[in-house]
Amino acid sequence: MSLLYIVIPCYNEEEVLPETAKRVTDKLQRLISAGLCDDNSRILFVDDGSRDKTWGIIEQLHSENPFVCGLKLSRNKGHQNALLAGLMAAKGICDCAISMDADLQDDIEVLDDFLKKFHEGCDVVYGVRKKRDKDTFFKRFTAESFYKLMNKMGVEVVFNHADYRLLSRRALEGLSEFSEVNLFLRGIVPLIGYKSACVYYDRSERFAGESKYPLKKMLSFALDGITSFSIKPLRIISNLGIIISVFSIVGLLYALISKLLGNAVPGWTAIIASVWLLGGIQLLCLGVIGEYIGKIYSETKRRPKYFVDRFLIK
Ligand code: UDP
Ligand code: MG
Repeated sequence: MSLLYIVIPCYNEEEVLPETAKRVTDKLQRLISAGLCDDNSRILFVDDGSRDKTWGIIEQLHSENPFVCGLKLSRNKGHQNALLAGLMAAKGICDCAISMDADLQDDIEVLDDFLKKFHEGCDVVYGVRKKRDKDTFFKRFTAESFYKLMNKMGVEVVFNHADYRLLSRRALEGLSEFSEVNLFLRGIVPLIGYKSACVYYDRSERFAGESKYPLKKMLSFALDGITSFSIKPLRIISNLGIIISVFSIVGLLYALISKLLGNAVPGWTAIIASVWLLGGIQLLCLGVIGEYIGKIYSETKRRPKYFVDRFLIK
């Protein structure tokens, strides 16, 4: 029988944790009695340096609930790092691990399907949202454009799949081999390979508390995703440079001919317009290149991604 770890990163989730623990425990018990996973399976809550009572609640749950384990990071390191910390803690212990968010926006009733696919021999099972009608128009629009942009940039991501997924023990071992500091798990997991499958579900609203991904965090996450996996933006810049050079040669010829023909006009508008335009394009290109240099800078330092403060296990 396969030993399952359900890994749940939590950042300031005191409002949802007790209810989440109750619902997931109930689900895990049903999975065990259905014979889908081992009765030593566990739920691992990862406290990502919360400022509220999250860790206190996890400690209490650990003492009362035989299924709950806890991992406390030394400080807030962000969703992706917290998730990785939990998965790496589970790696040597479990046969497979499923990651999900603390707010239970992802339907836990499809956990059966995850495990069935795993037993059919899949090493990676992606949870994919059927539709996003519960999201605000803005969130839906930005998120879907993001997946499309990623694919255009040549990054292999599963459309409408977030971090709700199952990884087998060897997929987890594969994941541990990736040493990059700028983590974007959605892009890394497809690179591991092995047999994979998708499970479809409806995503609901957060039942309590508010999103820990405000617009600013979401944008920087998207930018990280692109610049960590694709060098296309750099190539776009080179192509842009070539196109503009061609245009400027044509412009130069035109200016020379006009001068030779003696009908050179003052041309103030054209000069000012091109100065602004070129200045803008140059700054944009410098910014994109700078973004990659920044990434090289943080990768070469090889700083540790997280420190574990406490690990409650049974
Ligand atoms: N989270 C985390 N560290 C952070 C931010 C978020 O561990 O710095 C966790 C959070 O507790 C939740 C998950 O990441 O379990 C996803 O966050 P949220 O539900 O707020 O994102 P949304 O669903 O709004 O995109
Ligand atoms: Mg959420």
